[in-house]
Amino acid sequence: MTMKIEVQELLGKLGVPSSLSGTGSLKVFTPLTGEEIGSVEKGTLDSVNVQIEKAHDAFLKWRVVPAPRRGELVRLLGDELRKSKEDLGRLVSIEVGKVASEGLGEVQEMIDICDFAVGLSRQLYGLTIASERPGHKMTEVWHPLGVTGVISAFNFPVAVWSWNTALAFVCGNSVIWKPSDKTPLSALACAAILDRALERFGDAPNGLHELALVDRHAGAALVDSPKVPLISATGSTAMGRQVGPRVAERFGRTILELGGNNAGIVSDQADLDIALRAIVFSAVGTTGQRCTSMRRLLVHDAIYDEFVSSVKKAYGTVTVGNPLTDNSLVGPLIDKSAYVQMKKALQDSRDLGATVTGGERVLEDKYPDAYYVRPALVEMKEQAGPMLEETFAPILYTVRYTSLQEALLTHNAVGAGLSSSIFTLNIRESEMFLGAAGSDCGIANVNIGTSGAEIGGAFGGEKETGGGRESGSDSWKAYMRRATNTINYSTELPLAQGVSFELD
Ligand code: NAD
Repeated sequence: MTMKIEVQELLGKLGVPSSLSGTGSLKVFTPLTGEEIGSVEKGTLDSVNVQIEKAHDAFLKWRVVPAPRRGELVRLLGDELRKSKEDLGRLVSIEVGKVASEGLGEVQEMIDICDFAVGLSRQLYGLTIASERPGHKMTEVWHPLGVTGVISAFNFPVAVWSWNTALAFVCGNSVIWKPSDKTPLSALACAAILDRALERFGDAPNGLHELALVDRHAGAALVDSPKVPLISATGSTAMGRQVGPRVAERFGRTILELGGNNAGIVSDQADLDIALRAIVFSAVGTTGQRCTSMRRLLVHDAIYDEFVSSVKKAYGTVTVGNPLTDNSLVGPLIDKSAYVQMKKALQDSRDLGATVTGGERVLEDKYPDAYYVRPALVEMKEQAGPMLEETFAPILYTVRYTSLQEALLTHNAVGAGLSSSIFTLNIRESEMFLGAAGSDCGIANVNIGTSGAEIGGAFGGEKETGGGRESGSDSWKAYMRRATNTINYSTELPLAQGVSFELD
């Protein structure tokens, strides 16, 4: 069976009509083989503007539905996702080239966030605040915000949508989703799954969820519309630099989830066995195409030679190939452009005197239109050049350090601030890393790798990673507006701060 036939069968099982995925100007390719697996009709700037109006009308109705009832829709979405887990996971694996367990893991993350959001729908707590005036009460309440524009990246084609949509729905918002134009088929599948949940729910307003299969130019309609008060945008820092200021110009809000340049520090007091396994998974898993992939390794001088040589040995055993047919651990890069960028970063490193192991293209004869590479280990003389930037490919740069202070300086001396790890059994070192003068990232871990966050925590990073937080903890607050209410139940009108204002 060709990939195209398998994909069309999967889409059929997931409830996507063939008219939506087999015709259209936007062609979709699987990175596994480079074959075309479908084509979809692209929307336009005008069609997005129509969708914004529909989503806005839906918001006006949805915002007054009680939050626990809104949670019921998300419960049904989680239920439908459980039924579709195998098929959607497989589709994700084919559309972006993930190993089977990661495709399924991504859908599990969607189910988990739905469970989280259902509980949240009964916990959108405000505050009661002590008033300084007698006979007065102050409260802080949270209200729905409006249409939430979700812009997502190719590498988590379905999870990021669910993180945003589950929270936005329970918070009383409607959603317009602009997925990556590399992953429209997974997006169509999510929309079909949500449709089944909406049908079971019964009376949700039309337009509560709109899928906009558009390129970045038409996506600008979302970015610029005052009827979209919140843009949650996941993608490269370059994208954030364009989207962030445009939304700010109209005083809209953003949740920016941008690139990472994540590092692990390996102390001479680490459990090196745990460190090795965690580092190899973080660096080569998902072919280095996670925002949280480990890209930099800072190793204590006393163990550098021994440890880096064991990483090199482990790299030599990693299997690269089509994860759905060859049982490999590392699948392909998303496309040729990713390969070209990887090659360039490796050449730039060599030009700086680095020693590069791996990084070569493999399986070219078998898959001339797909881009499989061996993960690269790059021993740098110092942190410089391409090591300072995110290259979205499996490249792990290594440097030595002699004191933790020096390691922390190197660690924080890059633009991005997403995820970080220290491997140590020394409590002073781990507390320094986690403390105010330690890692400057949104995620700081001890004795686990940089990738693979759980939905219960707030997810996101600082500096050029954009500052946004989504998923767990109190991330929901970004999807709502806060109102401070003061109620006077006395017979007087005392003014705040003792101000006197007597009318004649
Ligand atoms: P990308 O920046 O090329 O595209 C991301 C999305 O933004 C796509 O939907 C794209 O069409 C859209 N887009 C780009 N420019 C736009 C514009 N001017 N206006 C409106 N939409 C625009 O990223 P990608 O290659 O799909 O994904 C990889 C990148 O995403 C990496 O940098 C990775 O680190 C990052 N990422 C970050 C997170 C996170 O949570 N921090 C998660 C996943 C991926």
